[in-house]
Amino acid sequence: MTLEELATVSSEAGLPVYAAKQLADWLYKKKVTSIAGMTNITAAKRNWLEEHYEIGLTPPAQTVKSTDGTLKYVFPASGAFVETVYIPSDDRATLCVSSQVGCKMSCLFCMTGKQGFTADLTANEIMNQIQSLPENDSLTNIVFMGMGEPLDNTNEVFKALEILTEPYGYGWSPKRITVSTIGAKGLKRFLDESSCHLAISLHATNPKDRISIMPAEKTFPMFDLINLIKQYDFSHQRRVSFEYIVFKDFNDSPQHALALAGLLKGIPCRVNLIRFHAIPETPLEGVDLKKMEQFRDILNERGVIATIRTSRGEDIFAACGMLSTAKNKVKKS
Ligand code: SF4
Repeated sequence: MTLEELATVSSEAGLPVYAAKQLADWLYKKKVTSIAGMTNITAAKRNWLEEHYEIGLTPPAQTVKSTDGTLKYVFPASGAFVETVYIPSDDRATLCVSSQVGCKMSCLFCMTGKQGFTADLTANEIMNQIQSLPENDSLTNIVFMGMGEPLDNTNEVFKALEILTEPYGYGWSPKRITVSTIGAKGLKRFLDESSCHLAISLHATNPKDRISIMPAEKTFPMFDLINLIKQYDFSHQRRVSFEYIVFKDFNDSPQHALALAGLLKGIPCRVNLIRFHAIPETPLEGVDLKKMEQFRDILNERGVIATIRTSRGEDIFAACGMLSTAKNKVKKS
């Protein structure tokens, strides 16, 4: 709940106005696991709260550990399962959270897209992936790059972003959070209202190619989204990156690299080149490291900062959606 929602709860409970902040403090700073633990609230009011509300923490249903230390958690949500991936490295610990059960966008290269859409996660279900994480205290960064299109569930994602960044909640700098999108309808609102970093899933250099792997290009054309991005300032606090999965014989040639550099000209950004994790029932294939390095070098020579993202957790189905697809199938059968 946001502070405003907690103020409504306080008022229903007959608590003073300042109690909303006390509740937020117990929830997001002290991270209590029961209402009984909120010891500066009178016993009678705690009883009332327990009768009407719950903390809303649900532990993961499954955990899988990679040999490289990456942990994949499967959380129950909206009658199904979603994935959350904890990625520790030398100087940071990043959590990749989901925002929907399934996804409407049907990207050809994505297992979540193949699941179809089941439900938007509530802010509670988004926050639960963070707060019920055994490694919660060690987190340094959060990326909304798990299952679902975050800006197709803007209201609930925005509530979670507020709780994470406002002083009454986690109080994190927005610079520690990245929202990844294909450029869905909530993008303008995100650009206007949020200071969190933005990652745009591009994966092609022209609309014809993009629509063949990302049907949502029809509704959210890449040229519109690039033009929109150009209207905002990304040269200071907030950063924008473009995600580009390199597919064999599809978008991997030097000509594609040159086209991408031309497309992003004038935008202070970074390109993350991503190796494709093979998934069932898709004709797409990845490329070798040499090809990715060539692609990166062409971008860098043209003044576009490009890096190759290190693959993590390949041995535990880290490609988003694979584990939950298996688990959701078991649940249905
Ligand atoms: S890549 Fe993202 S937007 Fe596309 S189907 Fe998968 S989860 Fe949805």
